[in-house]
Formats: sequence, C-alpha cells, structure tokens
Amino acid sequence: MPGLTPPDTPVRGRYAPSPTGDLHLGNLRTALLAWLYARTARGQFVLRIEDLDRPRVRPHATERMISDLRWLGLDWDEGPDIGGPHAPYTQSERIDIYRQQLQRLIDADLVYPCYCTRAEITRVASAPHEDEGPAEPRYPGTCRTLTQAQRRAREASGRQPSLRLRVDDERLVSFADLIAGTVQQRVSRVVGDFIIRRSDGIFAYQFAVVVDDALMRLNQIVRGADLLSSTPRQILLYKALGFPIPTFAHVPLVLDEQGKRFSKRSASAGLEPLRAAGRTPAQVIGQLAASCRLLPTGESINPSELVQRFTPVALNDIMRSMIQTNI
Ligand code: GLU
Ligand code: ZN
Repeated sequence: MPGLTPPDTPVRGRYAPSPTGDLHLGNLRTALLAWLYARTARGQFVLRIEDLDRPRVRPHATERMISDLRWLGLDWDEGPDIGGPHAPYTQSERIDIYRQQLQRLIDADLVYPCYCTRAEITRVASAPHEDEGPAEPRYPGTCRTLTQAQRRAREASGRQPSLRLRVDDERLVSFADLIAGTVQQRVSRVVGDFIIRRSDGIFAYQFAVVVDDALMRLNQIVRGADLLSSTPRQILLYKALGFPIPTFAHVPLVLDEQGKRFSKRSASAGLEPLRAAGRTPAQVIGQLAASCRLLPTGESINPSELVQRFTPVALNDIMRSMIQTNI
C-alpha cells in the first residue's frame, strides 16, 4: 500500500515543542514518551523547535527547553543545537521551504485566498463538533468560489487574505492510531477548508508540521492526545503533497488535580521548583514514568534504563490501558 513505511525502515521519531514558555511536566512526559517510543524501537530521535507563531514565542524559551530535556537525560540525533542532514531544525529558519511547498499546492489549485475575519466566520459557522471540537469554528467555504473580480474588490479594500486548503466534501479520513485505535473524521464537516497560511503571513501549524515531518523523513509521530483531532487535516496535507503518511501515537495528557490539562501558564508546573528542591533527574524521570504507569511510584531511574525495560508493544499496551480508565 502506498504510504506505509517499509518494514526495514528505521524508526525516526521526534519531539517538536513550541517555545511559548517553559516545558511543564505534561510536556516533559510527552517528550519522554516520544523519546522512549523511538529508542525502544532502536530508532532515531529528532528535536525540532516550532517557533513560527512569533508573537507567542518567549525569549530564551528554546535554550531553556533544550537544557531541561538534556538535564533529564534525553538525547537526540538531530536538532537545532547539533544540526543534522535535514537542518535547519527551527521552523522560523525554514520559511523558504514552506514557500516552496505552498507553491506546489497553489500550482495544483488546492489552495485559495480567504478574506473572512474570524468574527464573520463565527457568525455563519455552526458550532464545532462536540468531542472533536477544534478551537476554530468550521469554515463554511465563503471564499471558495469567489470570482477574480470579487477577489480584486476584497484586495482593494486592503484586507490581507489567509490561504485555505480545499477539502473534498465527502472525504472521510481514517487512520489507525497506535493508542487511540481507529480514528475517523470528515474534515469538511468538522473544520472545513482549513488555513495553511494565516492572514498575517505566518504559516499555520498544520501545514508546517506536515512539511517538516515529511521532509525530515520522520515516520513515527508521538505527541499529546490534544492533537488527535488535527491529524486528519494533516493526513489530507500529506496526501495533497504526495508524502508518505507516518505512524501516529497520541499519548494521554497529564491532568492536574482538577482533571484539567496542564498549561504552560501554570508556572509552578515546570522543572525549576523540582530542581530547587534538590530532585535528581532520575527521580523526576521516575515520577514521570510512574504518572503514566510505566513504573510503580517512588522509583528513580535513568532514561537509558527505562529503554531496557520496555518494548514498543508494551508501551502501546500501557498507554491504551490509561486512556481506557482515564477518559
Ligand atoms: N508544536 C506543537 C506543540 O507544542 C506540537 C506539534 C506536534 O507534536 O505535532 O503543541
Ligand atoms: Zn473566507
């Protein structure tokens, strides 16, 4: 089947944080799991910095993320600090690559300019689908069929358009997540034609992540379950660009005491207070591993020892057992 990774291809996984603040324990657990999935498969691991959304980027966040990951004992074969064959590994340095790939979509007439404001879309759109609810409302396709004259009129009013991918109306996207099982989404009904480049010129996460994961030859995407509902959109982009589709594993998110997701805003949730209290990396790794049932509580362990104890299949089983009881 096209799109399937041949069995002898080495696993290439990654962690791709956004430097919008310090990594909290939830981010760090996801990083640890992504690393473990790659290393237990004797695969390679890549670090990529997703800093396209400049207004949200915090100064020195990248350096701090790298030093936190290193302090924990995680390592990578390619990354912004060590380079590699698919450099650069920082998205803000890859704009020309996104432009080239966007041009391919434009040439294939898969993209069109949209002049709608968020308020206009919210007014027309039906509420997003409940459990799949992406933050954006469904785009109703207002600008899909504008004539050249209508486009010119909107340009003349000074509005900068975003660019959207045309999504086939009836196309059901289906994939087998290693943890969540079969996931299906009719993208046209849930999100509609979605943004590839924002009206401020910033390339959208959905687009940049696919271009990078594909061009960096990553074939195993392990990330937080909050991105599960984005994956069908990304699969449409893989197909539109003719890239092979990787394997996906969406790992459970760390919840706080109220059962809500950790956010980077909760400042106390990072490594700093733990370090200040004298915790060792092995203790923190033990705590992260215990929080997702890899170990009993209270054990200290190095990441490399953790690799020895698990197989990729065992990781899947444990993660699946977590989502069955957690949600
Ligand atoms: N940069 C995204 C984030 O920090 C993650 C991207 C991904 O893993 O696909 O949430
Ligand atoms: Zn529009």
